Amino acid sequence: MKIKNVTVCGAGVLGTQIAFQTSFHKFNVILYDISEEPLEKAKAKFKSLSEVYKTNLHATQQQVDQTISRITFSTDFKEATKDADLIIEAIPENAKIKKKFYVQLGKIAPVKSIFCTNSSTLLPSMFAQETGRPERFLALHFANNIWKLNTAEIMGHKTTDPKVFDTIVEFAKAIGMIALPIYKEQPGYILNSLLVPFIRSAMALYVNDISDPATIDKTWMKASGAPIGPFGICDIVGITTIYNINKMAADTKDAHAQKVVKMLQENFIDKGKLGVPTGEGFYSYPNPAYESADFLKQ
Ligand code: NAD
Repeated sequence: MKIKNVTVCGAGVLGTQIAFQTSFHKFNVILYDISEEPLEKAKAKFKSLSEVYKTNLHATQQQVDQTISRITFSTDFKEATKDADLIIEAIPENAKIKKKFYVQLGKIAPVKSIFCTNSSTLLPSMFAQETGRPERFLALHFANNIWKLNTAEIMGHKTTDPKVFDTIVEFAKAIGMIALPIYKEQPGYILNSLLVPFIRSAMALYVNDISDPATIDKTWMKASGAPIGPFGICDIVGITTIYNINKMAADTKDAHAQKVVKMLQENFIDKGKLGVPTGEGFYSYPNPAYESADFLKQ
């Protein structure tokens, strides 16, 4: 199975990054969205990504110019997918929207196309039947800031063809990702299966008055050698996302999550302290205390 032509569906936060990264590694890319507006925004985004690649990856002007020239833009679903070896879906995290998308895609895409979802929380088995080709469907999950946080979690469902799985592992490597194969379907993939309970435990120590965020982070950092602790991570992920994860649990009457939601709402959300993006969360930015030389000395 040779991948040459890649169609990325959804020109939002992740879709634009996936399109740029894929084209940077010399694949032909079509970026598809349902209207012109996100595609126009994507063009501007590619200009700023060019600067980021030049600064962070030492890319040359010629490389970024060629990257942009290999990307074409389309609002015509059939035209955009008609010669795709691989179609990467990065449309909103909404099961209804994704189901509708896959039913349509299954009908128009060529038989050779492999479909991948970039969904963060929805499982491939939820859409496998809708695709009409479950054996050629799996998840390829990227992280935000793909050029720098270059993980690609690859996860099939029960009837994904192992050869298709291997093809996507190779594709991920070919676009500069660290390919992380997952052998069974798992909500949260590897990263969030580790991270969500870790943050939950840290929050429990805090909201139950066992200790304070700086001490908890300090304990983790000093004892494990990690460069950052759970509350530093919360600031990077963004307090809104941490809030949303807890809110979902709180809505199912999870008492711990309800306590966390209340604390985050009152101390952070209501005060506009949303973490790194607003310059303040558990720490103040751009120079958070946990990065200072004496944080671990006292
Ligand atoms: P986004 O809201 O920024 O972009 C979604 C885009 O999809 C929009 O441009 C929208 O116009 C377009 N769209 C809507 N319906 C469509 C359709 N039927 N066909 C084609 N395009 C359509 O979303 P995002 O943050 O880029 O997230 C996209 C997916 O990637 C989600 O499944 C999300 O879970 C996943 N993801 C996001 C992040 C992140 O940090 N944002 C990280 C990893 C994975």
